[in-house]
Amino acid sequence: MTRYDLVIKNGLIVTATDRFRADIGISGEKIAALGHHLHGDKEVDATGLLVMPGGVDGHCHIEQDEADGTVHEDGFASATGSALLGGTTTVVCFSAHLPGKGLKEQFLAYRDKGHASRCDYAIHQIITRTDRETLETGIPEVVALGAAGLKVFMTYDAFHLADDQVLQVLSAALPYDVIISLHCENYEAIRFLVSQHLAEGKIHAHSHATSRPVSVEREATSRAIALSEVTGQPIQIFHVSSPEVAAEIARARDRGVQVAAETCTHYLTLTEDELKREGFEGAKFICSPPLRSAVEREGMWGALRDGTISVVSSDHCGYTYEGSSGKARYGRNADFSKIPNGMPGLGTRLPVLFDAAITRDRIDLTDFVRVTATNPAKRYGLYPRKGTIAPGSDADLVLWDPAIRKTISPELFESAIDYTPYDGREVTGWPVATYLRGRLAMGNGVLHSIPGDGLYLARAGRSHA
Ligand SMILES: [Zn+2]
Repeated sequence: MTRYDLVIKNGLIVTATDRFRADIGISGEKIAALGHHLHGDKEVDATGLLVMPGGVDGHCHIEQDEADGTVHEDGFASATGSALLGGTTTVVCFSAHLPGKGLKEQFLAYRDKGHASRCDYAIHQIITRTDRETLETGIPEVVALGAAGLKVFMTYDAFHLADDQVLQVLSAALPYDVIISLHCENYEAIRFLVSQHLAEGKIHAHSHATSRPVSVEREATSRAIALSEVTGQPIQIFHVSSPEVAAEIARARDRGVQVAAETCTHYLTLTEDELKREGFEGAKFICSPPLRSAVEREGMWGALRDGTISVVSSDHCGYTYEGSSGKARYGRNADFSKIPNGMPGLGTRLPVLFDAAITRDRIDLTDFVRVTATNPAKRYGLYPRKGTIAPGSDADLVLWDPAIRKTISPELFESAIDYTPYDGREVTGWPVATYLRGRLAMGNGVLHSIPGDGLYLARAGRSHA
């Protein structure tokens, strides 16, 4: 009889397609067998627990260099620690594309930073220029290095590409099996609206939302889709915030366009009312696209249920509330347009979503696994090594107690970020253990994985979600 290194016994295993009660036999770093009455040198009783694939967070800004010389305050060791505490075992983060530096140089330097990671990591490459070197040498080189995907911004002063440049990137990537993800908001319209708001003295955080209405996101999304159709390059729309935007995507898919879509936990669980908080508190909730209305938030669940949106990420952004390069870097009286965009979410992504999705019965467990682990693994060429529970896959597992109640606080995630937008939220369901390639990475809220335990993951061949 085969003896495994580790057996997780009696748990309810959940994958993107099934749920069943079985033991998981693990040999070394891999799942070796699923069955009954398996035995191992070490046995863990998971009676009463869900056993799911470790989360794959396809969109996290970790220790990322910014154009203004700052670096995101959440470093690899800290950010990936909070990922493991929240049940995520793989992160896909972003290599910057700064002036004067080549893509390959920046990709390799960023991959080296990742050596401090506690969980496994893959890398998206941002593209902010379309000079010949970037298009003809840089893109093929980073794809050969295993870039999980390429990212293009249609807005932000330091990043945005005009339509002709987006077309250049889409067609430069065409020979390679790599997905291009876009941040879709109309740059010119936002500039117009921001200066209008400031001229009228509307400087409070809530003006962030009113200066980026859903129309600017919907328009840019439909333009990105058209540019994808012009070139034939499959794309993904990042962080869809509203069902109106999802409807554009559904329409494109009906006519055969290969367009995938992601949303984030916050668009499913928070609203723009948070931006109205007193004083500088609203700054905690500034992200782009902005949080939307309660009606739109509920509509997003429909887009998730009907499959228009197939991935839920964190869009984790390492800006502190109090720190010198965080939200208050220009002081607490700074107008909304000077406050860095983004919210922390790596640790909270799965617990907050589980509570909203499963405890409140909006989607079912297999869908939860599909959108938080299996689909992102497929989309970034990491499947079936990551994102499922099957013989041959990495033994990345999260043991989840669906009955535990917790009150969210930043301390739970040992993050370098001093706040969470979900502070004080009570949730039901919590990760009690996380295994990374067969080793206990987190148990009962205690981190065991150390910096350097994480491996760089190169994108493997075609396996689209
Ligand atoms: Zn982002």
